[in-house]
Amino acid sequence: MNLTIPYHLENFIGGNFIGPLSGSFIDNINPATGAIYGQIPDSNEKDIEVAVAAAKKAFPAWSVLPAEKKFIILNKIAELIEAKLDELALAETNDNGKPLWLSKQVDIPRASANFRFFATGIMHFANESHQMEDKAVNYTLRQPIGIVGCISPWNLPLYLFTWKIVPALAAGNCVIAKPSEVTPVTAFLLGKICKEAGLPDGVLNIVHGTGPSCGEAIVKHPDVKAISFTGSTKAGERIAALAAPMFKKLSLELGGKNPNIIFNDCDWKKMLTDTIRSSFGNQGQICLCGSRILLERSAYEEFKKHFIPIVKKLIVGDPLETTSKQGAIVSKVHFEKIMNCISIAKEEGGTILCGSNAVKLQGRCENGYFIEPTIIEGLDQNCKTNQEEIFGPVVTIQPFDTEEEAIALANATNYGLAATIWTQDISKANRVAAKVQSGIVWVNCWLVRDLRTPFGGMKNSGVGREGGWEALRFFTEAKNVCIQF
Ligand code: NAD
Repeated sequence: MNLTIPYHLENFIGGNFIGPLSGSFIDNINPATGAIYGQIPDSNEKDIEVAVAAAKKAFPAWSVLPAEKKFIILNKIAELIEAKLDELALAETNDNGKPLWLSKQVDIPRASANFRFFATGIMHFANESHQMEDKAVNYTLRQPIGIVGCISPWNLPLYLFTWKIVPALAAGNCVIAKPSEVTPVTAFLLGKICKEAGLPDGVLNIVHGTGPSCGEAIVKHPDVKAISFTGSTKAGERIAALAAPMFKKLSLELGGKNPNIIFNDCDWKKMLTDTIRSSFGNQGQICLCGSRILLERSAYEEFKKHFIPIVKKLIVGDPLETTSKQGAIVSKVHFEKIMNCISIAKEEGGTILCGSNAVKLQGRCENGYFIEPTIIEGLDQNCKTNQEEIFGPVVTIQPFDTEEEAIALANATNYGLAATIWTQDISKANRVAAKVQSGIVWVNCWLVRDLRTPFGGMKNSGVGREGGWEALRFFTEAKNVCIQF
């Protein structure tokens, strides 16, 4: 089966590809060219109703299918994703604007890894038991919840979509999933792959549409018992408000304003290489990007001397060219938001050290949305630029004098997703890691991922953790059985 992309995408419900019941579609735009190249279903609560009915029908058989059999299907999907790497990577790049080499090296392989990881994980998932000396024994059943909703963002489209749906499926649930309306294509193609791999009809239903119409219909549906959401803090707040009165299980992976704390005693070569990635990888559109670079004062000028020339050389270009280090910003709306944030930074008194301009390319990409990687200094920690998530190729740099000051600056936002610490002093690294308020801390590296580790944020960056057993526990109900001797 080839992965032809039709102009009109369809929902994948009950194993069938069907258009939205309303007959309405939304334009899908390639951000590198600005051209409309397809249409996606503008689904609403009626489509969700049909998807829930399909999931309900599929649940009794899927929930009791032995782990070995689920493994075979989920692992087959992983293999098919690998086999179709080139097609999926191109689709991801055309939808999202990220460089094709990045889609090929990171996004699509990780989607396949997500399937393989939880396909095998479910075969090792064990229930706990607790013995009360000679009185009784307890064992905990971890049973599938039923029908669950998974809603994902546009920045790592297939990567994050699969990160949610696979543990849900592996744990025996049936899923109603909505990818971002900005980047729907690889999720659509995944439906075809699931069909080819023999996933039973109705086990995974992929419904396209906007947050307010399609996303909220999933959240509000009384038969959808848990919601796993990754996206902005604002949408997370709305989802939490809708779901709380219905007592749904909630996993929220939200925004970040992550500190990258650099001490002068670090390995400079590695720090500079990784800081380029953590600042501007995927055009800065990764929730884990270190958008606030905090520098020990003695390292401040030296850092600028080395960092700025490298950033100036990053080629912003056509995502299909192998030489492009920076691709397009995902959409016109997001491009305008980032440009506005740069204007605010200037109004706040920030000094632009490099970048800050839109990039006008020639030829195929002349109408695309491109922005120069931007470094700003001279801003106070309390200003908007250092408090609010920009989610683009923009970093600020700030000096600190002491370890305590570095920790205070790192913690001085409402977010708490990820932090990076650069130092050769292991005791200092441990002290700072323990005091930084974030769910994930990288020391002398960035975005090194072991899928078994807890993944998620504290404060306004989210509630709950994904990854490994955490995800399988989230997608199951724990039931304790106590037997007295
Ligand atoms: P978004 O919140 O606008 O949209 C995310 C998804 O939620 C989309 O599918 C959207 O259609 C849907 N949605 C929006 N409003 C909704 C509503 N009211 N009800 C139900 N669904 C709704 O986010 P985005 O712009 O797509 O993604 C960027 C954001 O995601 C950034 O804030 C980024 O930090 C965050 N993010 C977080 C993580 C993480 O793991 N913590 C990972 C990636 C991205």
